[in-house]
Amino acid sequence: MANTDVLVVGGGPAGVLSALTIAKKGYKVILIDAKPFEEIGNKICGDAINLGPLKLLEKELGIPLPHGEEVADIVEALVFQTDRVTFPLFGDGFVLNRHPYGQRLLKIAVESGVEVRADTKAVSAIVDETSVTGALVREKGNKEAYEIKAYITIDCSGRNYQIRKTIPSELFPNLERKMAKRDVAASYREIIRLKEDHHYEKKILLIYDSIIPEPGYFWIFSKGTKRLNIGIGWYLDMSVEKGMKELFRDVLHKYYPPRTYEVEDKGGYTIPTRYPLMNAVASGFIAAGDSAFHVNPFSAEGHGPALSAGYYAGKIASEALKAKDVTEQQLWGYNIAVMKDFGLSHTKLQLFTEALRKVKTPGLEYLFKRKILTQDQFMTLHGGNSLGKVDIFKIILKGFPRYDLLYNLYKIAKGVQKFDHLFARYPSTPQGFSEWENEFMSIMNDIRNW
Ligand SMILES: Cc1cc2nc3c(=O)[nH]c(=O)nc-3n(C[C@H](O)[C@H](O)[C@H](O)COP(=O)(O)OP(=O)(O)OC[C@H]3O[C@@H](n4cnc5c(N)ncnc54)[C@H](O)[C@@H]3O)c2cc1C
Repeated sequence: MANTDVLVVGGGPAGVLSALTIAKKGYKVILIDAKPFEEIGNKICGDAINLGPLKLLEKELGIPLPHGEEVADIVEALVFQTDRVTFPLFGDGFVLNRHPYGQRLLKIAVESGVEVRADTKAVSAIVDETSVTGALVREKGNKEAYEIKAYITIDCSGRNYQIRKTIPSELFPNLERKMAKRDVAASYREIIRLKEDHHYEKKILLIYDSIIPEPGYFWIFSKGTKRLNIGIGWYLDMSVEKGMKELFRDVLHKYYPPRTYEVEDKGGYTIPTRYPLMNAVASGFIAAGDSAFHVNPFSAEGHGPALSAGYYAGKIASEALKAKDVTEQQLWGYNIAVMKDFGLSHTKLQLFTEALRKVKTPGLEYLFKRKILTQDQFMTLHGGNSLGKVDIFKIILKGFPRYDLLYNLYKIAKGVQKFDHLFARYPSTPQGFSEWENEFMSIMNDIRNW
């Protein structure tokens, strides 16, 4: 007998959106989070977010865009920068104050009927012979764990992916369980207050500094005229001689020498940063947000995708409850929605990340400085589209004699094409998935080993 229709584990953006979408349809939802209620939504982050997912929530759920104290700055441009090159791209969005925004979403969830159990940690999944049936949970200060039984359990526990990793592997062969070191980035950031106004208003900068192992980067995001969110991050499989905080300080002091700023807040955490799980459902189970690798693998933006994935998880779960069928087959529509929204584009962006591991910052500088790759062409590839024949010819001419770089561009363009064809055949049901996934892995492994 279930205690609730749906159990959502984690009250970050993915969890709150899943929970409120389902509660708005009239189903019973329990949301648990390890944090105290008033701390839910407060996360160490770069705080930048694209407009797209926020517009989706406004359109589908009537959730107003961030406003008032939730907005630290508006974003009008995303700028790639190295020691020698600056490469502006356009982008609409916000730099948020995540805590008040997260608390507003939580309030909407509560008003929609979600029961929130704060200070409550999921320990492991509960399963029967065919399905995930809830989770074993423990309240803070209480040694005894207890069970919450649900028809559907949604894992939104972020980097911990507490439910997905504790589902017995033999039960659902289509569901991946691991999180490899090369797919997780370590990251550290500070919010600083400057004595003088800065020059980064309405901008977010991704800085590829040669002392940070590629494809890692240093970021500067404006949080108003005198405040900046500044951070650093790289993959866990990279070896670096200095500690992260020491390297952070070295790079920061190139821009702001000691005593020109005060640190308001600081902290670090890890970010799963890879192409998304190709399947994130099992009978009675959905994974959304960081727990399903929904972070953009190039920019490490995961807030927006977590909101969108949370909405899709909630929508598909509500439809399954209505149909009284929570099998993998019924929940499969969630995979299709994610693939259509950002699954394919994030997979293509993985190609850029792999290329950057190979060509390194000087290679990137060469491409941009010699204008081998123009801003428009970069945007085309970055958006996951192929370049025209004339463009490719021009690139080859201008790329002489750095054919190693051209080879990497060629691999990106080829990979983009292959994924386009493969994703057009993404299975409409779980049948045929394992064959499709083998094909996917063979392309991905080829790219990773080129
Ligand atoms: C330093 C840093 C900078 C970043 N910068 C950006 C950025 O600028 N823009 C951007 O878009 N993204 C950024 N990200 C990524 C972004 O923060 C995440 O992708 C996003 O928060 C994912 O949302 P989520 O709901 O999946 O997980 P989270 O936001 O991590 O939420 C998970 C929730 O689950 C709870 N939880 C965990 N384990 C359990 C458990 N066992 N039981 C119960 N509850 C549990 C946690 O308390 C938490 O509330 C950054 C991340 C880091 C670490």
